[in-house]
Amino acid sequence: MRSCKTLSLVLVVLALVVAFPAAGRCVVLNEYGDLFDAVLSNLVDNYAWELDEQGRPIVGNWDRDEMYDSTLFAPDILYRLAADPDFGDETVRAQMRTLARQTVNYEMGLLTRYLLGDDSVKLEAFAGAPCLIDALRASGDWIYNLILAGAMLMVRDIVSQEPNFLGEYMGYVCAYGLVGYYALSFADVEKHLTGQMAEEIGLQILNLAVQRHWVEEDGRFWPIYNLYEDGWMLMGLAYAYGATGNEEYKNMADLVMDEIDTNLWDAQNPGGGYWEYGPYMYKPELGRWKKLSTHERIARGMLHWFEVTGDPAYLDQARKMLDYTRDNLCVEDCYQPGRIMCYHHWTEVTGLPHVVSDESDPRYDPYYPHPFCTGCNFNLLIDIYLLNKFVQESGNYPRRIGACGTVVSVAAGQGSAAGASAAGAAVLALPALCAAVLKRRYRGRPGGGRRSQP
Ligand SMILES: [Zn+2]
Repeated sequence: MRSCKTLSLVLVVLALVVAFPAAGRCVVLNEYGDLFDAVLSNLVDNYAWELDEQGRPIVGNWDRDEMYDSTLFAPDILYRLAADPDFGDETVRAQMRTLARQTVNYEMGLLTRYLLGDDSVKLEAFAGAPCLIDALRASGDWIYNLILAGAMLMVRDIVSQEPNFLGEYMGYVCAYGLVGYYALSFADVEKHLTGQMAEEIGLQILNLAVQRHWVEEDGRFWPIYNLYEDGWMLMGLAYAYGATGNEEYKNMADLVMDEIDTNLWDAQNPGGGYWEYGPYMYKPELGRWKKLSTHERIARGMLHWFEVTGDPAYLDQARKMLDYTRDNLCVEDCYQPGRIMCYHHWTEVTGLPHVVSDESDPRYDPYYPHPFCTGCNFNLLIDIYLLNKFVQESGNYPRRIGACGTVVSVAAGQGSAAGASAAGAAVLALPALCAAVLKRRYRGRPGGGRRSQP
């Protein structure tokens, strides 16, 4: 951490960076606002932070973060709330900013440990890394730009040789969609030299996904192990369309939605919801599943499709998934009586997993020692916030995404283009160095080599 801060300081001095604050926009949570407030307050009051073996809080590491996605998702919504004058009072907004920064600092610590040789944190460090895009958007600090640019170069190389570097629980479609989406998000925030590079990498990766995994006759990507993989791909395709205007991305996204709406939406049950694909059911004895991660991520895909097309039908698609989630997955938190949490999945045999959950016998799902993860709850908060924001600011959409797109995510007066370009030039040599170190680290560990494609 200290070395990162020192490097950051040096870069600031060298490149005369003018830091810019996040935009102050007023978003009123007219839709799903009660759910938003209930989940957010429970997360802040009861799940910050995980305790270590001595019972001390690991500051920045959200409790019950089963797949490291709290580190990934929490800063996005917390920075947005911190910059929103309509949210709470000064004290509450300052608290949101502090929690966001602490989460980002935790991620920076993980990345530093990984770079210094600690392989045990690799998956956690990789999974949370895109939160640095939110930190860059909120602070304009070039240390984040430097690390993200290095990571982009590294990821481009890995994807061309070894497509699925995210681990065995995520499929290839997920890996491509996620990396493509975040590369284009980084380009969208950065806008200058490294943003151009990130945009090219993001489009290359998404085009590779189409080449390798788009099945023309079925109108879908395949194989899909968890339906939320489609959510990541829909997010990536939306931003690819937003960056290029290429209608093929839109045709593919619309076909994916047709396919899952036709084959997986539960039309028998008034509550609806998407079933997961049968062939990849993890525990067949529990029957078919519906998952929070699927609904909130496909909703997020639909929200970004609104962002790039301005078509309100996509907002209705997102509402359909948020309705299902609110009405069927969000109930009293089994660990915090009286508080609300959204559970990770519902199964045909057991209903909500907490009905059968038992710490000593968590038989509903060996992946998760707990029946929910705080990360997916944070992502749900992002969905709700974005839905309300897009409705209230609908005149700003569609918008162009990527390095050449318009800036809507950061405040006006963010620092001169000349200053930012100088900063970009100053750091352009360093990402290559960073990537070289990362690549050496990645290759130097067992499991860093190739695996066969399933
Ligand atoms: Zn999760």
